[in-house]
Amino acid sequence: MIEFKNVSKTFRLGKREVHAVKNVSLKVNAGEIFGMIGFSGAGKSTLLRLVNMLERPSKGSVFIQDIDVNSLSSKELRTRRRNIGMIFQNFNLFHSRSVAGNIAYPLKLAGLSKSEINTRVNELLSFVGLSDKAKDYPSQLSGGQKQRVGIARALATSPDILICDEATSALDPETTGEILRLLKKVNKEFGITILLITHEMHVIQSICQRVAVMEDGVVIESGDVFDVFTEPQHLTSQRFIQSVQ
Ligand code: ATP
Ligand code: MG
Repeated sequence: MIEFKNVSKTFRLGKREVHAVKNVSLKVNAGEIFGMIGFSGAGKSTLLRLVNMLERPSKGSVFIQDIDVNSLSSKELRTRRRNIGMIFQNFNLFHSRSVAGNIAYPLKLAGLSKSEINTRVNELLSFVGLSDKAKDYPSQLSGGQKQRVGIARALATSPDILICDEATSALDPETTGEILRLLKKVNKEFGITILLITHEMHVIQSICQRVAVMEDGVVIESGDVFDVFTEPQHLTSQRFIQSVQ
C-alpha cells in the first residue's frame, strides 16, 4: 500500500547538502499500524513528507496504492492528498476557528454542501468524544482534546492513510494512552493504515505491529515489533528498548 523503493532525499542548503533519507526501501501493508522510531534528525519526518507528497524523492520511488507519486501532476497530487490524513505534535489547529470549524475545513475545501458538512462534523465529533465541544475554540481545550480535534479533522475526508508525526510527544502519559487507544479504534473501525513516528519506544510497543528504526537517514532495522524488541540487531535499537525496561 505504501512502498519506498531505494528512496533518497537530499536537501541543498547553499553549497551544503543534507542527506536526510538515504536509499530507503520499505513496505507498509494496508491496514497495519507501522511505527518509525529514531533520534532527532534521523530523517523520520522527511520520510513521512514523502508519503504525503509534500516532498518529492531526489532518487528512487514512493508508491502509494501502487501509484508512483512522481508520475502525478500537481492537480492529481492535490486530490490524492485528501486520501492521507496527518496529525502533529503541536496539533496545528486553526486558532481562529471553532472545533467544528476546524473539522469542517477540509470538507469545505473538498466542496461538500453545508448540510453534508454538518452531518459529517457531528459524526466525527461523536467518534472522538467531543460532541459537547463543537462551539469551543482550541485555546479552551486541553492538549488531549486538541489532538482529538486534530484526529477528527484528519479523518474528515475519509482517508486510507493516517500519518502521525510525534502526535503524543506533547502529552502526559495518561493522555498519551487515551490518544493511542483512539488511534487503535481508528485503525480497527475504518481499516485505516497508520504510519506513526515517535522517539518513545513504549508508544511503538503499545500500538504498532511493525517498526522501522532510523538512524542518520538510513533504516537500520525493521520487522515485527516483538522480534525487534526481543532480538534487536542494532545498538541504536537496543538503546530504545533499554529506555522502556
Ligand atoms: P526529529 O525527531 O527532530 O523531528 P526527524 O527524524 O524527523 O527529527 P527530519 O526532520 O526528517 O528528522 O530531518 C532529517 C535531516 O534533514 C536533518 O538533518 C534536518 O536538518 C534535515 N532537513 C529536514 N528538512 C529540511 C529542509 N526542508 N531543508 C534542509 N534540511 C532539512
Ligand atoms: Mg521529525
